[in-house]
Amino acid sequence: MKTCKFGGGPLANAAQIAKVLEIIRADKERRCIVVSAPGIASPTDQKITDLLYTLVNPPCETTRREAAATIISRYQAIINGLGLKIAFRLWFNEAIESLKHIKADRRKDFLASRGEYWMAQILAEALGYRFVDATSFVVFDGNGIFDLNESKKWARATSLKRKLAEAEGIVVPGFYGTSIRYGGVITFPRDGSDISGAAVAFCIDADIYENWKDVSGVMMADPRIVENPRKIDALTFPELRELAYMGAKVLHDEAILPARMGNIPINVRNTNEPDDKGTLISCKIDNDTRVPGSLIGIAGKKGFSVIRLEKAGMNNEVGFLRSTCQIMENHGINVEHVPGGIDTLSVIVANKDFEASRKSVIEKIGLACKPDLITVEVMALICVAIHDMVETPGVAARLCQSLSNAKINIRMINQGASAISIIIGVNEKDYEEAVRAIYKDFTS
Ligand code: ASP
Repeated sequence: MKTCKFGGGPLANAAQIAKVLEIIRADKERRCIVVSAPGIASPTDQKITDLLYTLVNPPCETTRREAAATIISRYQAIINGLGLKIAFRLWFNEAIESLKHIKADRRKDFLASRGEYWMAQILAEALGYRFVDATSFVVFDGNGIFDLNESKKWARATSLKRKLAEAEGIVVPGFYGTSIRYGGVITFPRDGSDISGAAVAFCIDADIYENWKDVSGVMMADPRIVENPRKIDALTFPELRELAYMGAKVLHDEAILPARMGNIPINVRNTNEPDDKGTLISCKIDNDTRVPGSLIGIAGKKGFSVIRLEKAGMNNEVGFLRSTCQIMENHGINVEHVPGGIDTLSVIVANKDFEASRKSVIEKIGLACKPDLITVEVMALICVAIHDMVETPGVAARLCQSLSNAKINIRMINQGASAISIIIGVNEKDYEEAVRAIYKDFTS
């Protein structure tokens, strides 16, 4: 049994959806389908989810009307193109009407979720599959965090597997579930249908989670930076997690945990190239032929702050690191990396988390830790994942050499405990050039 999730690109219009239907019908194991809302197939398209968010908070009445009209015409064109008989305007009006019964602070999530809700019903109708709403078993806990084990319990309690066995197949909307706290709809972060797909695969004990996109899998580097990067054929879950967390866009990084816990391989495929085998991500790669020291992939992001602390005798001071991390925690800031020296410590955080409380954080560290010097610098981080890195001599040397040849200054280097990747910090202006230099050196 396969769980297949289709992203916004493959569901952007009727022509794209026709390919999706063909893919589903080509394999009788593809009976559990999870969908995104229609996305972008041409440069003039807008993502339905973006339009729905506009409806929640329109800057003016004209914008609201335009967004509503675009949503209605996009869905109606899809419905007509698939030869279905649905008056979409009624569905749309019904959703707007429902808002009256939803608390003001919950309306945003409800409205945003309608993109997937409508799409799932349309696809179910086109396939003759049963629609199963995500609110019946995808559960978020009291803190608004997705709860995988509770979701599995709810799936059992609502007989999800029986529904699947009794129907031709089922279609579940991605991107949302039910909040135990509010009892209503709550959404995942943006692009969260990937997580929904993994959650559904986990709840029905799927053999494989096919994630269909409009690209042929995970690439070795960002195609916006490196021209025609090679595709990665196979990856392990921890390898993908590192690359996805550090910016590789193809799959939401939180989608990996449910698949990993259920030992369900993820196969990223391309609806425009259905014969391409895509990238297979699993616990262990069968017949792994990768050469030790070879490049798995490069990912990275700009926008990190490196808070550098210096204090004579720091290394002998018990609790210095704990106090610093406590201050970050008190401000709700996630600490990304903590490279350190004898009397220096760098705390790396994302700018977006740090900026608002920067002044307070620095003051509090000054009071609690009394460092001799605190500096804050902005950097880009590059994650270079290397096969069998810990056992292969010369990897770090080769990396440094490729950056040195490209005349790029390394600001920070951190070989973490993961044994999979090395993280390199460079000035933001050097980021793209650094990625190209590493890719070129490791692939030529
Ligand atoms: N439609 C949602 C978004 O645009 C979720 C998704 O597509 O995965 O973020």
